Amino acid sequence: MKAGRYILLAVLTLLHVISCDRKEIIPVVSPQKPAGNQGPVVNKTPVKLSGGVIGTERSVDYSTGSASITVNGRYNAFDGSFDTFFASYDRSGTWVGLDLGKKHVITKVGYSPRITQEGRVELAVFEGANEADFSDALPIAMVKDRAASGTMHYLDVNCSRGFRYVRYVGPNDARCNVAELEFYGYEADGDDSCFYQITNLPTVVINTENARAVTSKTDYIKSNVFIVSEGGKNLLSALQTEIRGRGNASWDFPKKPYKIKFQEKHRVLGSPSNDRKWTLINNYGDKTLMRNILAFEVSRRVGMAYTPFCTPVDVVFNGEYQGCYQLCDQVEVGTGRVEAKDGYLIEIDAYAYSEDVYFYSGKGMPVTVKYPKDDEITTSQLNFIKNYFGKLETALWSSNFKDPVSGYRKYLDVDSFLMNFIVGEFSGNTDTYWSVNMYKDGGDGVLFTGPAWDYDLAFENDQRTYPINNLSDYIYASAGSVASDATRTMVNKIVKQDAAAKARLVEIWNASKPALSSLNDYVDETAALLDESQKLNFKRWPILNQRVHQNNAPKGSYAGEVNVVKSYITRRLTRFDELVKK
Ligand code: CA
Repeated sequence: MKAGRYILLAVLTLLHVISCDRKEIIPVVSPQKPAGNQGPVVNKTPVKLSGGVIGTERSVDYSTGSASITVNGRYNAFDGSFDTFFASYDRSGTWVGLDLGKKHVITKVGYSPRITQEGRVELAVFEGANEADFSDALPIAMVKDRAASGTMHYLDVNCSRGFRYVRYVGPNDARCNVAELEFYGYEADGDDSCFYQITNLPTVVINTENARAVTSKTDYIKSNVFIVSEGGKNLLSALQTEIRGRGNASWDFPKKPYKIKFQEKHRVLGSPSNDRKWTLINNYGDKTLMRNILAFEVSRRVGMAYTPFCTPVDVVFNGEYQGCYQLCDQVEVGTGRVEAKDGYLIEIDAYAYSEDVYFYSGKGMPVTVKYPKDDEITTSQLNFIKNYFGKLETALWSSNFKDPVSGYRKYLDVDSFLMNFIVGEFSGNTDTYWSVNMYKDGGDGVLFTGPAWDYDLAFENDQRTYPINNLSDYIYASAGSVASDATRTMVNKIVKQDAAAKARLVEIWNASKPALSSLNDYVDETAALLDESQKLNFKRWPILNQRVHQNNAPKGSYAGEVNVVKSYITRRLTRFDELVKK
């Protein structure tokens, strides 16, 4: 039951061991053999590199505020003077660098902010590439703090691949203000033994075609995706990946959630699933950056058949640091995901009307059909699942609904329904019955409930149900619940009016309690895992003092937000025990 916790501990321990060591990665001629028997000898003595100045062409003339190609141009970043600087006309997505002519392994970069603009280098990213458009760019260093102007600052680079093109990408909304840049290294093709990982978390690099922004939830655009992991020793290259926006409320936040679709199936960062589609969850309204991770751990500890894979990462999008995300399974039918043979995946879904394939049940429940896929489902398949859901509903609303043979059990697996109930209600998720996933094999067999998904409002992150542990009843039955009336009635019939199901709920809860009682240790371990990344995340998105989405009063610090979750869990263990035994 504690597998997740031990995996996390193992990862934390491993991270101390496996950061790339420069000594291992400099491409030297094998010391065991005489140099004369080898190919060209690489002179690995780093020197200050020069090359053609490349970068964003339009600069800004601050005296007029208008675009210029003569004043504050990109050449100023390499003229040796702290008094002159590059300032791009566009505020974001701008850069300056060098075409080195040939591949070089970079060993060190230097930078100096524009005089008086010492914060404008914070979160800048240095990248190397071998395509002039930087479509294959990888980060090689990152400026993590503001820095004094009038002097150079240096970062060691620990990336073994040789690059012809190198650049400095300004942080968001800083006009790429930089007074001086320096690159050091030596000419060599290098190798792929070591890459730069921004923090202890894996780094996901997304380079879209023509550096386009992702502005649509329906239209994919092309992008190259790279994932650096294992402290820089592992690189997944997924070229020509498709990317688009995703999410409902979360799509409206400035930090965007994405869906990516690889050309080939990949197992990602140790995922059980080997698949093409993945999601990048933005966690903008969840300032602990871990509510989904925690809910999935609850799902595992309660014993649900399938819990989505979900792991924290840093994201660099077209050279700009975008913060701490979670790379997760797409909820879909597949091996290692929802295993519903030739079957169906549906969602009781308040947003069903915005989906391509959905229906309303007889009692008015909105249901999205997620599988078979939108473009593959046949009319008879849609009618079948709609009809099947209708039978479940009719059985539940009939007078003998509790009958073990002819009642709702004929169509619904009670255990998975109750487990999903515990995950949602224990975690305190207002959205649990706004969105309920269910699946069914194609042949015989009943509807199963799960997987858990979308828990950013859980663990006391929703003012509409705050404070959850003071509610006199379950969340679904409270005034703050967002469930439809019919969905609420369905839950009520099962967990309150069916004595056998209610008894089973107590059994499953009692079996889960020992594993859940140590959940706060997992919170601490996850907070430690996220610590380096959360610091950068809240520099990119300084929202710790403001309310976002359905937040309660902000706590002003990451630790304060994590403590809200811990206090909630401590009280919930007792309170939920009272509720199920009422
Ligand atoms: Ca200068």
